[in-house]
Amino acid sequence: MTHSNQAPIGLAVKLPFATPEEFLAKYGANLTRGGIYLRSRTVKPPGTPITLDLKLSTGARLIYASAVVHFVTGQQGQGVSGMGLRFLTLDPETKRFLDTALAPLPHAQSAEPLLPQGVGPADYAVPPQPTASAPPVVPPVAPAAPEPSAAPSSPTALAPAATPMVPTAPAFEPLKEEPKREGPIIGIDLGTTNSCSGYVRNGKPEVLHSREGHNTVPSILALNTRGKMVVGHPAKGQMLTNPRQTVYGAKRLVGRAYDSPIVQHIKDRFHYEIAPGDSGEAAVKLGNRIFSLQQISALILREVRELAQNQLQQPVSRAVITVPAYYNDNQRQAVREAGQLAGLYVERILNEPTAAALAYGYGRKLNQRILVYDLGGGTFDASVLELNDTVYEVVSTGGDTFLGGIDFDNAIVEHLLEEFQKQTGKAFQGDRVAMQRIHDAAERAKCALSERSDMRVHVAFVTMIDNKPYDLDVTLTRKKLIALTERLVDRTIEVCDEVLKAKGLAPKDVQEVVLVGGQSRFPLVHEKITKFFGKPPTKNVHPDEAVALGAALLAHSLGQVEGVTLIDVLPMAIGVGLPGGRFKPVLERNAALPASKTYTLSTSRDNQAELEVSIFQGDSERAGENEYLGTLKLAGLPRRSRGEVQVTITFEVSNESLLKVTARESSTGREVSSTFTTRDTPEAVKARLAQENPTEPPAPASQAPAPAAAAMPPPLPAKMAGVVGWLKGLFGRR
Ligand code: ADP
Ligand code: MG
Repeated sequence: MTHSNQAPIGLAVKLPFATPEEFLAKYGANLTRGGIYLRSRTVKPPGTPITLDLKLSTGARLIYASAVVHFVTGQQGQGVSGMGLRFLTLDPETKRFLDTALAPLPHAQSAEPLLPQGVGPADYAVPPQPTASAPPVVPPVAPAAPEPSAAPSSPTALAPAATPMVPTAPAFEPLKEEPKREGPIIGIDLGTTNSCSGYVRNGKPEVLHSREGHNTVPSILALNTRGKMVVGHPAKGQMLTNPRQTVYGAKRLVGRAYDSPIVQHIKDRFHYEIAPGDSGEAAVKLGNRIFSLQQISALILREVRELAQNQLQQPVSRAVITVPAYYNDNQRQAVREAGQLAGLYVERILNEPTAAALAYGYGRKLNQRILVYDLGGGTFDASVLELNDTVYEVVSTGGDTFLGGIDFDNAIVEHLLEEFQKQTGKAFQGDRVAMQRIHDAAERAKCALSERSDMRVHVAFVTMIDNKPYDLDVTLTRKKLIALTERLVDRTIEVCDEVLKAKGLAPKDVQEVVLVGGQSRFPLVHEKITKFFGKPPTKNVHPDEAVALGAALLAHSLGQVEGVTLIDVLPMAIGVGLPGGRFKPVLERNAALPASKTYTLSTSRDNQAELEVSIFQGDSERAGENEYLGTLKLAGLPRRSRGEVQVTITFEVSNESLLKVTARESSTGREVSSTFTTRDTPEAVKARLAQENPTEPPAPASQAPAPAAAAMPPPLPAKMAGVVGWLKGLFGRR
């Protein structure tokens, strides 16, 4: 399970004090406007939502609030055990009490719970794996007996200075040495939502567990309020209280320009700050520092590597890392760099669907056509593979990069807010924290509904309207969930259909359907798959683990004589931009690799001496909607009448899966020089393309094979090499 399924917890504490004054005298140091520190032998993981009900010994209510565990102390055997709870919503009485009682206490103005003196350092360690269903109400935690040292009476001496809201982020520390190409090779699924790693031990692939005992590590990195970087579950834990400094879903930004349409489109959906990096690439601002996506991914990979080292009891410096099939070269390169920064030599970059297929078929000598259906947190991919003994060939691939678990969550949230309005007669008004809590609850309910048929969604104290606190309390049934999200599942089936049709295949031509990705656990997915393909999906692979285990298996096979052979297709067309902003594919999507195609263009004016070609990758008919790869500038063309001078550009994805681009001036056999313009931003190129007179005849494109080399002048020399170097390896490195 990737989720702890924690239910909001009611925490009722009866204090051994009869009046607020007595309480403040003893425990004033533990209280701020923003939260309270409670000593307690049992603590809950950071991020756990809590409804706190603190009563005086008379039974009178002192504090009634919804809160969340902000930090825990004493879990690593140092100092007093307890937890800092951050208030999310206060009832009006509590607010009045805090306003009056805390006004004179300087330390208490903080918006967060503080560490009182003498309890020892806070640590964010999450306790051992929580049981699948946490009890809804924990027994009251009696405050620890007052200790003289813990409750000094002078308020100024009580607490450390208030923690700044945005601490300084530690700089990214590069590793001192290059990763060594020796020792075990692990497989890593660096997921958008969750990462997982595996290793083949004694011929058996197994998954390496997170510190908390989960099979996956949330791909989340956070700067905590004490200026420390935390990764995985502890980082997920602070998402509620510190969304601005919590980085999730970063994979969607990897290898993309800040200005690219995708980044501009998704940037406002993230609570953390996305900023341009040094070379205009999308980067992340944490604290006051900019981190590249490679660094962010590297910090997640470092955690994975450390887990592996702990479990394998030896240094780990090599890995096979998986990427989505549709990743372009920039993105694959970025993942390689991230690996390197994490101290890992990346032996192979492997496509996720191929990895899943390996987990399914490795060592079984299968002769089958399968479809890998991967519905993860943010994206959906479908790939058809043909397995022939040790040969794994991807024959068709496709997907929707904006369809995943998060869309199911959003549909539920929308419904919950509607229900709230129906119940209360008031439109929901809540801040970011409230929305995040509802999202959390929606996701938990969604996961629970994969196992059961109804689930109460209760978010206590979610908002205040007209000074009155409100809970969100809705029971969601699986039936309702299906009604809300059926269209999303239908969309995935449509994509499966498209991916099959692209190769002239029908559902019955598929022998097995392999489901991966957490959201594929939704029973409606099984139902629709079974209906569409006429058979249920295979139960042989684990949806969370398959990709990592497949990577581990490939890693294992690298050292063997009889390894596996992986054959791939081009995931997205590669081609050129035409006047009017159109896109002309040269190498089509799903072209089997290796592949080679030429594109011929000719001058459109008399005496034209220069030609420019902009190269894009993607499946849109509009160049501007595709990924910009670069521009070739061909200068020094012979001056002739329009159309007489022709240049042939060859796009070639070679045997070693490296893309080479070569250009020949074919009409006269004369050499032309070319430069690769790097000064233009993708946006400038796109704008220029869009402006160019669309009525001008487009450069004729030819699919004809390049004329025999002997009859032709040599490929463009020297300056062209830069382009080749830059473009090389596009889609390669399998
Ligand atoms: P990624 O490949 O993006 O890292 P995962 O494969 O880990 O993602 O899938 C994460 C998604 O799966 C999340 O949206 C999560 O809510 C969803 N998910 C996890 N477990 C379940 C479940 N039992 N039922 C339905 N959805 C689930
Ligand atoms: Mg995945």
